[in-house]
Amino acid sequence: MAAVAEETKNGLDPMFDPVWFLNEEQIGLLARLREICETEIRPRARHNDATLTFPRESLEALGPDGFLGVMLPKEWGGLGQNHVFYAWVTETIARYGDASCAMCYVMHTGAVETLRLRQTDYFVENYLKKVKDGLIGTLSYSDPETGSHFWYPMASGARRVEGGFEVLKKASWTTSGGFADFYVCQTTSPDYGGDYSNLSVFLIDASQIQAEPQEWDALGLRGNQSGSLLVDWGFVPEQQLVGPIGDGAASNDESVDPNFLIGSSGVWSGIALGAIDIAISHTTRKTHKDVGLRVCDYPTIQDAVGEAIIETNSARAFTFSVAQALDKVTDDARRNPPVGELARADYLPFLWQIKFRAAKNVARVVDKMLHCTGGTGYKKKPLDIERYLRDGKAGWVMGPTNEVLRQFVGKTALLGYDSLDYWNQVVNTRAMENEIKKLGPEEKRKLAERLLGEADGSSNGGSPA
Ligand SMILES: Cc1cc2nc3c(=O)[nH]c(=O)nc-3n(C[C@H](O)[C@H](O)[C@H](O)COP(=O)(O)OP(=O)(O)OC[C@H]3O[C@@H](n4cnc5c(N)ncnc54)[C@H](O)[C@@H]3O)c2cc1C
Repeated sequence: MAAVAEETKNGLDPMFDPVWFLNEEQIGLLARLREICETEIRPRARHNDATLTFPRESLEALGPDGFLGVMLPKEWGGLGQNHVFYAWVTETIARYGDASCAMCYVMHTGAVETLRLRQTDYFVENYLKKVKDGLIGTLSYSDPETGSHFWYPMASGARRVEGGFEVLKKASWTTSGGFADFYVCQTTSPDYGGDYSNLSVFLIDASQIQAEPQEWDALGLRGNQSGSLLVDWGFVPEQQLVGPIGDGAASNDESVDPNFLIGSSGVWSGIALGAIDIAISHTTRKTHKDVGLRVCDYPTIQDAVGEAIIETNSARAFTFSVAQALDKVTDDARRNPPVGELARADYLPFLWQIKFRAAKNVARVVDKMLHCTGGTGYKKKPLDIERYLRDGKAGWVMGPTNEVLRQFVGKTALLGYDSLDYWNQVVNTRAMENEIKKLGPEEKRKLAERLLGEADGSSNGGSPA
């Protein structure tokens, strides 16, 4: 008679990895990455979390093997890999290394890829070829006045001066803020004239940045140091304009958003897998002597682990599948569309969905895996599952938030893409006329007088300049 295996397990069996998304070279690279995570990154994770320490050494450990330039050409020191592999890399760092480091890596890759989208010899020689040596970049988009609507930088601006620009960037959040070497920042364009869809992007060096890392303290991703940041009308030379003036919305849709949504979805699934690994390892070891059963022998635990695996793998497969679509239209991330054309952006409605799916899943899985590990998991040591729980909670609130994403998807499906109205420019005549119907004659007269005054030119766009 066959007996049920009694051996302990150290985590989820690799048979549950959808490796058919990878080629042989990628499987080898991921084995090396796992080694780096286990020897260089994971040993620092607990300390970085406890002391709010930026994971500089962990990020630098990714340099020599080329991971800091995961999609950059090999001749620049990169790995020349595709979007599927990128998602798998962020998942691996979050699962086997440190989720804070993984999030800094996502923002770094977003900055690097936005420079590559609008590449110039200057960007290639001074920035992109140096990432292998540990040059770290980040994205600074969110604005204190518009919260998670990071595409709407109301408090920031730029003006033309001789030889370049003066830039005001006020950011409410910037991962790696105060620790990165370069910042890809979005502001309104110098000639925006009240049109907030007229955005420009600037590459700003660390020397121009004022950050307040001492203010950073948060529930999770504590090492990612996403504090506020100020560039106070700093001079930015002409060659550090990223793409043409007014290109901000396009480069956001083509690079910043797709790369963030793919990479961060990988992070959320990586945290979920890490929590599943811990739960499997713990519950196959812990025995209740009174009943002679291990925790993993209870059907309720088996149900919870089974559901967590199924839901996480559906999030992963969805992410990898959308990443494959991006690979198809970019020749495996080797080709970028020129200014005026888009490739990845056509998949935004799917990219929104993968982030929603992965971020929703991780929040539930970390809860359930904590329950499986009981009071032992609730303590900080030795399991570390409470760190995975805190880190995973960032998924839902990071912009685009899950509330915004499900509304984007539902609204697009019901009312069409234009109804999203990112920059508050499309008039909802149905709502306006309905409200006006409620006004009495005197109120209508007052409103008409005010509108006529505004139409005569008494209003303006309110430039921060
Ligand atoms: C760990 C971490 C790292 C980050 N790193 C970066 C970074 O590197 N660069 C960067 O630019 N930003 C970064 N951010 C900022 C992030 O993208 C958001 O801008 C930020 O989380 C918004 O916080 P808030 O309090 O202003 O949220 P708010 O925008 O005030 O949101 C509050 C609530 O309102 C909801 N809400 C907002 N708009 C709508 C709407 N239209 N419809 C329905 N509900 C809505 C939200 O979903 C949320 O529930 C980071 C955030 C976190 C948590």
